[in-house]
Amino acid sequence: MSYCAALTKSGGGGYGFFMEIRDRYAPSPTGLQHIGGLRTALFNYLFAKSQKGTFILRLEDTDRTRFDPCYVENLYKSFEWLNFHWDEGPDTGGRAGPYIQSERFDIYKKHARNLVENGKAYYCFCSTERLEALRKERDTGYDRACRDIPADEAAARAAKEPHTIRLKIPLGEKTTFNDILLGRIEWKNDDVNPDPVLIKTDGFPTYHLANVVDDHLMEISHVLRAQEWLSSTPLHVILYQAFGWKTPFFCHLPMVMGQDGKKLSKRHGATSIDEFRKNGFLPDALVNYVALLGASYEEGKEIYTLKELCDRFSLEKLNKAPAVFDYKKLEWYNARYIKMKTDEELAALALPYAEQAGLFGHCGTEPSVEQRALFTQAMPLIKERVTFLSEIPEKLGYLFAEPPVPEAPEFIPKKSNNEEALRLLKIGRELAGLMAGLDDDGAEKLAKEQAGKENVKLGDLLTPLRAAVTGSRVSPPLFASIRLLGSQKCLNRIDRAIEKLGG
Ligand code: GLU
Repeated sequence: MSYCAALTKSGGGGYGFFMEIRDRYAPSPTGLQHIGGLRTALFNYLFAKSQKGTFILRLEDTDRTRFDPCYVENLYKSFEWLNFHWDEGPDTGGRAGPYIQSERFDIYKKHARNLVENGKAYYCFCSTERLEALRKERDTGYDRACRDIPADEAAARAAKEPHTIRLKIPLGEKTTFNDILLGRIEWKNDDVNPDPVLIKTDGFPTYHLANVVDDHLMEISHVLRAQEWLSSTPLHVILYQAFGWKTPFFCHLPMVMGQDGKKLSKRHGATSIDEFRKNGFLPDALVNYVALLGASYEEGKEIYTLKELCDRFSLEKLNKAPAVFDYKKLEWYNARYIKMKTDEELAALALPYAEQAGLFGHCGTEPSVEQRALFTQAMPLIKERVTFLSEIPEKLGYLFAEPPVPEAPEFIPKKSNNEEALRLLKIGRELAGLMAGLDDDGAEKLAKEQAGKENVKLGDLLTPLRAAVTGSRVSPPLFASIRLLGSQKCLNRIDRAIEKLGG
């Protein structure tokens, strides 16, 4: 069913049902941000933007045992790197804040107590030991032992005894909802987790309560989340009903799998955003690729800006089938995006990798003005040749520091010898002085003429020269390298090489 149909069916009359399209990304900071999270965040963002709606970030940090502030930091860092912004959130603020659940505990308690007063929830006094023994004994979960304690007695005991608050699931009924992607979902209430805890003994809310209360108070119109949450949704719908609130529209997104059909995990390769960053991926290449995981936009078009994605996104374009994460395809995107960048853009993106690799001195050294200019000028040399930003520093090392003189065999053209290599290098020395002042075409013309005169192949003439100037017989384009280094540096390197070859 399309989401328009879902909207109409629910009696809302189109988008008017919710005054505004509002959706959210609601991560729990219990791990690093990964591809699955990015995909959920991105689809929520694209949907909100495609509907001129509002995209919200909410931190679901109710699980205090697995919480670690480093994961919050990782979240902000990852999304900042991705250049991805929310309209409302912990850092940006907004009319429905605070957006961090640990700052909203009083709100959840108040709502849970309201449910108890209305007979929709109840105090449970079972000890941890009893519940543990129960879990060992039967696999159907809690036995609802406290469900029928008379309200007055329960309230009096709650004032003195440790307790939890549990939802009173209406038994013998069915709960149904329309998932925008999966259609009508029906669950027998008796099969839903028996009377789940809403407020724990320590007064903290559980995920289910906080999630539902916040989605309501933050006026979330659409819940787009990973399919692993589908089994929680009947319980959430029961909670909405208990509160007497309208349910938002649900859309459970297809899973992201590795190529072996198993859920994407570390076994398949990098999964955390941070790892992709470290490995030299471009944020826009990653966003472009992830936006296509489980959605199709335009036949034959593969490169999209964020704006183009926003213009084209619709929930009808989502696929039901699991999405397969193809690392090779992502690499293809990365190489394409590297080629599409201007020299200035690419240099700015590659700079942190170059600093880290010690290209400008020691590890972490920032470039001087001259080094920065040279780095930018060198971008055309590698743009067509790299897949990852992290490859760039190593490829350009010879421009920033004199490479060691290679061993003799590096200089020798195929089917040739030391003597000939030395002879060609001496010719190359004359050429290099001139080439430094020429553009690529001019330098090539000069080299070809010389090769003709000597009756040698152009490649053979250039092999010793390349090895001397760049330190390797395989390198970025030679003529541009000579130009960027300038004649003096080239001649020094060539002289050292001539010496090594015994000349
Ligand atoms: N905190 C949940 C998570 O970590 C949010 C699930 C939802 O979007 O409702 O994914």
